[in-house]
Amino acid sequence: MYIDFHSHIDFYKDDELQKVYDDINKNNIKVISCAMDEESYKKNLGFSKVCSNILPTFGVHPWKVTNVVTNLDIYDNYIKDSKIIGEVGLDFHWAEDKSTYKPQIEVFKHFVKKAKAYDKFLNIHTKGAEELVYNILHEENMLEKSIIHWYSGDLSTLNKFIDAKSYFTLSVDINTSQKTQDIARLLPLNRILAETDGPTALEWVTGVYGMPSEIIHVYEGICNTKDISMDELKHNINKTYNSITNK
Ligand SMILES: [Zn+2]
Repeated sequence: MYIDFHSHIDFYKDDELQKVYDDINKNNIKVISCAMDEESYKKNLGFSKVCSNILPTFGVHPWKVTNVVTNLDIYDNYIKDSKIIGEVGLDFHWAEDKSTYKPQIEVFKHFVKKAKAYDKFLNIHTKGAEELVYNILHEENMLEKSIIHWYSGDLSTLNKFIDAKSYFTLSVDINTSQKTQDIARLLPLNRILAETDGPTALEWVTGVYGMPSEIIHVYEGICNTKDISMDELKHNINKTYNSITNK
């Protein structure tokens, strides 16, 4: 089995969904479909009823915090039901409107505290705010419960996350980006996970719209970069998936 630790199945168009389910089932892929917000979570929940290999997870993406109501406690039941929390985090790079930074921090801190209270892992966006994400997780002692999604920050902060035993998803640029390959070489094998980040991430990197089976190429890229066998990588990622979700 392949495990895509960070995707967005709701990014596919409605008329593509059957093809997406078939691709997932045929290639034996388990897909963690991260919500961007409440609406996105409900869509992913619906997909999981049709395709049991899709695991929907609840979070509010840093780009979506302005839609969020002031009373974040209304999300408690979603958080309790969700095996993993995500996508959550901070974005000070792509989010151009600086007025969102304060609510981003408030929402992220809320989710980190709730994940701690309910003993859940977090799937985390860190773009341009790596150091602050580290500090917030450190304050709550949640670094070991963190899955850092597609890290692209500086290496000194990366090393702090590695020392704190965080997990990392390597993404669709593993076969083409020297920087991502350098990061992969620094990561301990038992902290490496894989992701596609939905159909549009590959399109952004290579111009090709990604199907879920793109995860196989990500696995191959990790094997080549780390000089390990596919069996070894699968064994490691499956073990981590089981320990995170079978609680
Ligand atoms: Zn994402």
